[in-house]
Amino acid sequence: MSELTPQVKRRRTFAIISHPDAGKTTLTEKLLLFSGAIQIAGSVKARKASRHATSDWMEIEKQRGISVASSVMQMEYRDCVINLLDTPGHQDFSEDTYRVLTAVDAALMVIDAANGVEPQTRRLLQVCRARNTPILTFVNKLDREVQEPLALMDEIERELGMTVVPFTWPVGMAKFFGGVLDLRKDQMRVFSPGEDRVAGTEEVVQGLANPVLADRFGPAYEQAAGEIELVREAAPEFDHEAFLSGRQTPMFFGSAVNNFGVQEVLDALVDLAPSPGERAAMQRTVHPDEPKFTGVVFKIQANMDPAHRDRIAFLRVASGKFSRGMNLKVVRSGKSMRPNTVVTFMSQKRELLDEAYAGDIIGIPNHGVLQLGDTITEGEALQYTGLPFFAPEMFRMVEVADPLKTKQLKAGLQQLGEEGAIQVFRPVAGSVLMLGAVGQLQFEVVAHRLEHEYSCKARISPCRFQVARWVTADTGEGPAADERELNRFIDGNSHRMAYDAVNAPTLLVEYAPELRAIEANWPKIRFHALREHA
Ligand code: GDP
Repeated sequence: MSELTPQVKRRRTFAIISHPDAGKTTLTEKLLLFSGAIQIAGSVKARKASRHATSDWMEIEKQRGISVASSVMQMEYRDCVINLLDTPGHQDFSEDTYRVLTAVDAALMVIDAANGVEPQTRRLLQVCRARNTPILTFVNKLDREVQEPLALMDEIERELGMTVVPFTWPVGMAKFFGGVLDLRKDQMRVFSPGEDRVAGTEEVVQGLANPVLADRFGPAYEQAAGEIELVREAAPEFDHEAFLSGRQTPMFFGSAVNNFGVQEVLDALVDLAPSPGERAAMQRTVHPDEPKFTGVVFKIQANMDPAHRDRIAFLRVASGKFSRGMNLKVVRSGKSMRPNTVVTFMSQKRELLDEAYAGDIIGIPNHGVLQLGDTITEGEALQYTGLPFFAPEMFRMVEVADPLKTKQLKAGLQQLGEEGAIQVFRPVAGSVLMLGAVGQLQFEVVAHRLEHEYSCKARISPCRFQVARWVTADTGEGPAADERELNRFIDGNSHRMAYDAVNAPTLLVEYAPELRAIEANWPKIRFHALREHA
């Protein structure tokens, strides 16, 4: 306990994840509405309008600036401060999303009840599962013709590999959607479509067995009641510990566009989701209510104004209290900084921030002082772990069209690499830089940004490599032997070795079978598809 404990305890930091079109934007907006952070729906929609055209990368480019203001939203609800982090919708930017997931304590998964678990959701879930992030599930669009709730529950359970515990259960669907039975409060909340009402005005019928329900909702009610019996027999009781460790997910049904079921989700976030916990650093474990400030940069976003080249580093406060103008140290470089124009993200507006506590996200404008994965402290040498970099799946060679612009290319690529927009590799043998990405769109964005922000036309050409693995040695004979073995490996494979932005040695190969052969030949070398910043 410390004087910070009450502030930490009242914070909830979560990401909202879904496949495009499941209703993430709509739900986000309704959460803001129900918390009172915004008065009328619409502001999130505006952003969405541009996001929808994301097959067109120019649109993504345009949005970069817009989304700075809207990718983190803070709201107050009941006694809590809720930080909601949006995850980029386009799958080519999934790397960014994965990093966002390292900055949250829980995730809210939105599922389109007609489509069930879709590919993008699946990938995001894998990351949540790997980190044992607690997940709340919202099944959306019950006002439509959708899958049967039992089938959905079964699918989610299988896909998630965790037990689904329904908190509500739908009565009917589409035209016959009557509302949800609240299994915990023993009541039914009646659905009325299209109303723009907020908290407290919903019609509630007490008692799940109330004969009024059968009269009013007929077969839909009978079916729901039967399903609940089944579910009650089969599903275990909700166990808070199991939820916190990612083994159970509470499930809610609703219709975000109709404001229906939103309040339950907001309440569940407050009642069930964890407040910020301790975080692992290489040196030690850090508690959120320790007096000294620490934080970690999980996202870097370039600003709209290309001429300025300033970038906002998104930092999750891990411990202590942040106050504007305090003296901070970037542990990696040892540099000091005293950020004065730090921003927070209240209800979509950027506002100057005075203080922040563990779980809060702050934005620090900077010109390249901060990199992804950086740990910021009041002076302690501390490095947080766990920010993932994924081995790219696509590669290109990059050169300048005009040799006099080589310097601009290098500078541009370095910055774009630091932002996480692309991964840049320097081959051990040869001088042509290589780009690695997880999505094709990243190359196009990089070419465009090099040209417009760094006045450098890049020539991006195909490259024979298709697989990358970071390599380390593990001889079991100590660090000196490991280093010798690693150097031996690098020398022996110099034609297919490169260094990434933080000088981590990386093996590049053309085909997966080639990788397997190399692995078999080098038993003391470890090959990693994932690198955690350290
Ligand atoms: P996102 O891509 O996940 O952010 O999805 P959006 O929130 O933009 O929603 C995609 C579409 O589904 C939009 O046209 C929404 O109006 C619609 N939508 C969202 N929630 C519901 C719902 O509960 N019922 C129906 N019928 N449509 C919905």
